[in-house]
Amino acid sequence: MVDLENFLRQNRIVLMSIYDSLRSFSVSIRCSTGDGEIASQVALLSPDETFADLHRDGQAAWEGVELRRRPGMWHFLYRGIVAGNASGDPVDLARAVRITKAFTLPYSSLRIRQADLYDDAGFCGSCGNAYCFDHWNVSRSGASGSCPQGHWKSLDPNWSPDD
Ligand SMILES: [Zn+2]
Ligand SMILES: [Zn+2]
Repeated sequence: MVDLENFLRQNRIVLMSIYDSLRSFSVSIRCSTGDGEIASQVALLSPDETFADLHRDGQAAWEGVELRRRPGMWHFLYRGIVAGNASGDPVDLARAVRITKAFTLPYSSLRIRQADLYDDAGFCGSCGNAYCFDHWNVSRSGASGSCPQGHWKSLDPNWSPDD
C-alpha cells in the first residue's frame, strides 16, 4: 500500500484544484500482487523543471535518461509493460492536466485510462489492479496479456478500444 501523505509530500501534489497542484512528479506503479515489481513508471516535468526537481526516488528512476526539451512545453516520460517513450515526449498543458489527474491517488483504472497510455500503466480495466510484466502473462508477440484473474488486455501501442 502507498502511504497517501507520504505520496503527496514526495510528489508535491496538494489536493487543491488540479491547476494549483500541477507540477512535476514521478511515480512508480507497483504490481498489486505485492511482489515488489514495477508495473509502470511515469514522470511529468513542468516547462521550467528538470529531473533535479523530482524527489530522490524519481531522480533514481530516470537516471541516465537524456532529455531533449522543447522550450515552454511540459515533458512526459513513460515506461510501461512492454514499451515506453524512451527519453519522453513534449506535451502541452492540456495533456499535462490529463496525466496529472490520471495519476492522482487513489488510482482508478477508469481515470488512468484518461492518460491515453497503450497499456493503461499496467492497470487491468476489469479488476482494477495493476500488474507487472510477469503477472500480465504477456503473449509471445507482446501484443496482449492476461492478468492473474484471466482478464485479457491489449498491449499493442497502436490498438485503441475505439477501433
Ligand atoms: Zn484483471
Ligand atoms: Zn507482479
